[in-house]
Amino acid sequence: MSNDRMPRRGVLLIVASPSGAGKTSLCRRLMADHGGLELSVSMTTRPIRPGEQAGRDYHFVDEAEFQRLIEADAFLEWANVHGNLYGSPRAPVDRALAEGRDVLFDIDWQGAREVARRCPEDAVRVFILPPSLEELRRRLVTRSQDAEEVIDRRIRNAKGEIEHATEFDYVFVNDDFDRSYAELAHIYHAERSRRFRNVWVSGYQQALLNEKV
Ligand code: GDP
Ligand code: ADP
Ligand code: 5GP
Repeated sequence: MSNDRMPRRGVLLIVASPSGAGKTSLCRRLMADHGGLELSVSMTTRPIRPGEQAGRDYHFVDEAEFQRLIEADAFLEWANVHGNLYGSPRAPVDRALAEGRDVLFDIDWQGAREVARRCPEDAVRVFILPPSLEELRRRLVTRSQDAEEVIDRRIRNAKGEIEHATEFDYVFVNDDFDRSYAELAHIYHAERSRRFRNVWVSGYQQALLNEKV
């Protein structure tokens, strides 16, 4: 019998890395392969990039609207990252947790820290390291979605972000993409199987113990 529909506590899977390390690509693939996993679509004040879709990649808002949402306590966490404001809307996360669904966050280390502080049992933090800073730059240049000065700023910030890798539950290097993806999927699967999240287990165990053989 599949245990997919049994009552459970959802996982808040948080993926962070310096810009360009590959978290968005890894998260997209994880979402594509797991229908039950929901992406936390962040609000941001940064300009939309070519190829991005409002409401799918981010909710794009101006600074006044973002401030209004902070005051309305609409964020589970928010932070200033590379000079722009980013925040994870609280309502979809509360809804998912109440229904036992899993949520994926593509957020920075500050957000990861804050979600883990607020939801210590549910949060699982994964940090993705680049093979080298030179490769990080190469990926940002190849992605060709940011202006040169934006790329320079992100590379300058990378070391400050990498310093926080030790605060995370899981860390790996995104060298070969498929191998890295398998690593992320394994972490997700293992965390889903943790006994305390599977609140159905005691009833199921009892039914097995009561079975006449
Ligand atoms: P990327 O680094 O190339 O993916 O660039 P983005 O502009 O998409 O993201 C910039 C940074 O903001 C990254 O470190 C994200 O993880 C982080 N970020 C995105 N959304 C959120 C959020 O809702 N909250 C927080 N705290 N950080 C976020
Ligand atoms: P982030 O969300 O961390 O900024 P992205 O997922 O946008 O990173 O990846 C940055 C660029 O690097 C993209 O062009 C992506 O296709 C590429 N990339 C991601 N992972 C790898 C990898 N393992 N090897 C080579 N290129 C990669
Ligand atoms: P980008 O502008 O390249 O999409 O994202 C830059 C950084 O902001 C990434 O490290 C991304 O993970 C982070 N980020 C995106 N959304 C959020 C968010 O809602 N909260 C936090 N704390 N960081 C975010």
